[in-house]
Amino acid sequence: MSLGLLSAAYIIAGVLFVFALAGLSKQESARRGNKFGMVGMAIALVATILTIDPHAYVYILIAMVIGALIGTRVALKVEMTGMPELIASLHSLVGLAAVIVGYNTFIHILALGNMASLDSMLKIELTEIYLGVFIGGVTFTGSIVAFGKLRGIITSKALCLPGRNIMNLTAIILVLAGMVLFVIMGGNLIILAVMTVISFLLGLHLVAAIGGADMPVVISMLNSYSGWAAAAAGFMLSNDLLIITGALVGSSGAILSYIMCQAMNRSFISVILGGFGGTKQCAVDIDYGEYREMSIDEVAELLKNSKSIVITPGYGMAVAQAQYPVADITRKLRERGINVRFGIHPVAGRLPGHMNVLLAEAKVPYDIVLEMDEINEDFPDTDVVLVIGANDTVNPSAKEDPNSPIAGMPVLEVWKAQTVINFKRSMNPGYAGVQNPLFFKENSYMCFGDAKATVEEILKKI
Ligand code: NDP
Repeated sequence: MSLGLLSAAYIIAGVLFVFALAGLSKQESARRGNKFGMVGMAIALVATILTIDPHAYVYILIAMVIGALIGTRVALKVEMTGMPELIASLHSLVGLAAVIVGYNTFIHILALGNMASLDSMLKIELTEIYLGVFIGGVTFTGSIVAFGKLRGIITSKALCLPGRNIMNLTAIILVLAGMVLFVIMGGNLIILAVMTVISFLLGLHLVAAIGGADMPVVISMLNSYSGWAAAAAGFMLSNDLLIITGALVGSSGAILSYIMCQAMNRSFISVILGGFGGTKQCAVDIDYGEYREMSIDEVAELLKNSKSIVITPGYGMAVAQAQYPVADITRKLRERGINVRFGIHPVAGRLPGHMNVLLAEAKVPYDIVLEMDEINEDFPDTDVVLVIGANDTVNPSAKEDPNSPIAGMPVLEVWKAQTVINFKRSMNPGYAGVQNPLFFKENSYMCFGDAKATVEEILKKI
């Protein structure tokens, strides 16, 4: 393929990726955005494959068939609740790819044997390799920890090692000093290897030190890192499209992380540096006293006699697939003239927009599904709040306890309603791993059991 044609194909693919991102920014245009992205990626793949030595086609074909088989199987199998884990595992692969490309490029330069002539081109190439391997290393292990936390294999509580800020700072200083040495020496495999180990450890520590409730920011941040790792690989491979794509992913991930930090009242710098500066991430167990329970009959009776009800769903509704009986109960109560609305926290569930998707799936009318900011003022005038499988997003300690790991995070202020009923299976904490004082408040009652089964039982009684 001629260079001109290749550049044209890359420009078209790059423009399609921009359209894809623009489409993905709104629910109505998201499908179209996805299609743009798919066409762009197909053009990019074909154009890139046509530029390489035809003898390598057989290897590429084998790799693509294996990749396509694994990808198709995983995509067909993954549940909505498993999406963040899948994304985290894919990010780790991007990071690993950047590390491998970095070593490959370095070995290639070593093989050329022109280290003596340390010209400026070589210096730039060495810096690219060093940075690419570093970002790739942090992304690789950071994403593995994120995967473990989301899967529940690793505790979602923040890891609080003594002197963790000093450790991170020392690692960064060592990496920077290593970079200067690496470039001055015209490349050195030992320095590169030591830095790779440091980057792996740093990635592990940065994400392990972030508490569960901040995980949405970590996911988008690792998304951003994976973009920068891809861009670095693009520089090393002198592939313009990879640089463009990496920069698009890197900057959109950074913007999303910033928006999420603002929505959760978190400091961007603190989150990207692994909870830098504070000790609030480390949870302490407190005894909140006794909780009260309410039976299914009592809940049904209470609902029938209410005038205004707010439902605040969370991750548990997704796990139980309770959105359908929840939609049915909403319909039934509305037919009785009761004002039923939903309050959605921006990080409820495990994906941005998770609850909105589930409720839309169950055909709950859009106009009664309100954002946290829109509903929070109405809780004092609400008779009953049904907390269906939500926990961290309705935790009052975010407002009341400055030492809580989730302190400062905006939450749904459900405790201001007359009565709150919590549907969950046990007294286990939510994703952030902190106990919820809401369950022990005087106007709050537990209704234990699987959310779907419980809501179906109540539905029968109404
Ligand atoms: P939480 O994860 O805080 O709590 C979910 C609750 O659901 C648990 O307490 C659990 O209690 C209950 N539950 C689980 N299964 C069932 C079931 N079958 N029936 C009834 N209840 C069930 O959920 P929230 O939505 O309130 O908060 C989301 C959390 O996830 C936040 O900390 C957020 O930061 C984090 N997060 C969000 C992401 C996003 O993008 N939205 C991404 C990554 C993390 P029990 O076991 O007792 O039943």
